Amino acid sequence: MFQLLKVTFSEKKWLFLAFASTLFVSLFTYIFVDLVQPIVDDMLRLAPAAASAASAAPTTTRALDLLWNFLRISRQNIRSVLPFVLVAVIFGKGLFTFLSSLCMKVVGNRVVKTMRDDLYGHIIRQSSAYFDQATTGDLMSRLTNDVDRIRDAVSSAMADIIEEAFILVALLVGMFVKDWTLALMALVIMPLAIVPLAAFSRRLKRTGRQAQLKMSELYDILHETITGNRIVKAFTMEAFELRKFLKSTANYYRINIRLSWISSLSSPFMEFIGGVVGAFILFIGSKRIAQNHISPGDFAAFATAIFYMFQPIKRLSRANNVIQQAIPCLDRVQEVLQVPPQIQDKPTAYPLPPVQGHVRFEKVGFAYVPGRPVLFDVDFEALPRQTVALVGLSGAGKSTLINLLSRFYEPDRGRITIDGIDITDVTLLSLRSQIGLVTQDIVLFNDTVRNNIAYGLENVSEDRIQAAAKAAECHRFIIDLPLGYDAPIGERGGQLSRGQRQRLAIARALLKNPPILILDEATSALDSESERLIQAALAAVMRDRTTFIIAHRLSTIRSADRILVIDKGRIVESGPHDELMGKSGLYRKLHDLQFPEDEENSR
Ligand code: ATP
Repeated sequence: MFQLLKVTFSEKKWLFLAFASTLFVSLFTYIFVDLVQPIVDDMLRLAPAAASAASAAPTTTRALDLLWNFLRISRQNIRSVLPFVLVAVIFGKGLFTFLSSLCMKVVGNRVVKTMRDDLYGHIIRQSSAYFDQATTGDLMSRLTNDVDRIRDAVSSAMADIIEEAFILVALLVGMFVKDWTLALMALVIMPLAIVPLAAFSRRLKRTGRQAQLKMSELYDILHETITGNRIVKAFTMEAFELRKFLKSTANYYRINIRLSWISSLSSPFMEFIGGVVGAFILFIGSKRIAQNHISPGDFAAFATAIFYMFQPIKRLSRANNVIQQAIPCLDRVQEVLQVPPQIQDKPTAYPLPPVQGHVRFEKVGFAYVPGRPVLFDVDFEALPRQTVALVGLSGAGKSTLINLLSRFYEPDRGRITIDGIDITDVTLLSLRSQIGLVTQDIVLFNDTVRNNIAYGLENVSEDRIQAAAKAAECHRFIIDLPLGYDAPIGERGGQLSRGQRQRLAIARALLKNPPILILDEATSALDSESERLIQAALAAVMRDRTTFIIAHRLSTIRSADRILVIDKGRIVESGPHDELMGKSGLYRKLHDLQFPEDEENSR
């Protein structure tokens, strides 16, 4: 609750406007209620006899006297101006109700915008380890659904609390003025209502949290089946996925019905408690009238005040419901915000100066999961402009090794240097801007071909984009697209073939022109002809930079300056192709498996 108030009060300007408007609403309501008296005594005074009787009696309250004086209206004219005043007061009340509601909605939406922006800014900066654990659906649900509930709590429930609290205080003051003993009694028994209210709140909070978890599950299923729709179809799992979804919506439905039960019950229950309090006051009041402690008129006013308290109590209890449901949402948002990114710039980090590309791994050890290391004592050096190939069986640790160079993860032991500088001492931005990466999973964005090639770069000339596209053998297929470089490529590049996507990813890395290039299975999706063409282009590009290549097709790495053979997280062999072929180690074995005819010839 404190957190919710804190986020609400962060929007001081709009909150102040809402507050001021609410005060005017109260003032207009007060005048409106007061106007009932002259309406009855002046407007509806039909008979002259009644008129003289009425004029003898005090006809206006002090507040209305002030109003008439302010408007310079004499007592005789009240009757003729009353309808206009009434319309003006209703208009004023409506205007300020509109303003206060609008301001609170602005507060809610501003709070939510800031929160969503912070949340996304925080998530996007998280390290890879975070994304390994978090599910997309859960994060999406926090960013959308949870944040929306917080907005509702701020814009409607907080508005109710502010408005109704004012009215409640005014009524309470009125009650104490009329009979403080009776008011005290009412106050003593009122806490009776607090106990069930607290119980309702607890249950709502607990059930609200369960509902949000179920919502996250729903988002997870949605995300997985929409992005993986082809596999779902290929395995004819539509019915299975639908059943899973129906089960999930049924769970969500059940929890929401439970929530509806609790929240729908709370208002009438609170009203009932209010009724019991009212009956008790009536009972005590009648005794006090009999004992001449209070006049019947004052008691009627007192009872009216109690009656009028129902509405604010009811709305406050409803606001409490909304808030109790929003608190778990705020907790879930805070949970994300409180996880600091594991990999951050050190306070002393400085930008990595332009490098030659001299990379050293010094006794590097790493585990994704504590206690289950995947790299042991990896020790090697890549000189500037060398091409280093990483070879090994699937799961040996090749991609992991490369991930450490870009600092997607950090080694548990040892260190990595570029040109003698420890990569943990420099800023992530400057490090990554000098590394070009083409990964196994080709990640393209739902944008045009041009913007995908120029991703992360600003003000790139058309010539450079086309040169990169030509080097990566994609210019020809791009100009064949209906809109050429302006053609949208669909979500994750879905409107292109896998090979075309891979070539775009290579063009993107080439355009960046980095001193260090990483090609992780970068040509695996290409046919032999495209691969041969790209290899030639890549060979030219690789001459000027330090390149790491991971490839299962050993033909692509024969010419590498050094080949590191990785087995179960260790470098077991290292050297150029010919040297490794001379040994009868793992490399030779892998090679002979892929090229049995070479093996025959060498015998
Ligand atoms: P491939 O040739 O199949 O791509 P690889 O040699 O690149 O394999 P890595 O991806 O580096 O292998 O994986 C090395 C080991 O680390 C594997 O046993 C894998 O299960 C494990 N691993 C990889 N990524 C993660 C992760 N995000 N969390 C936990 N374990 C992981």
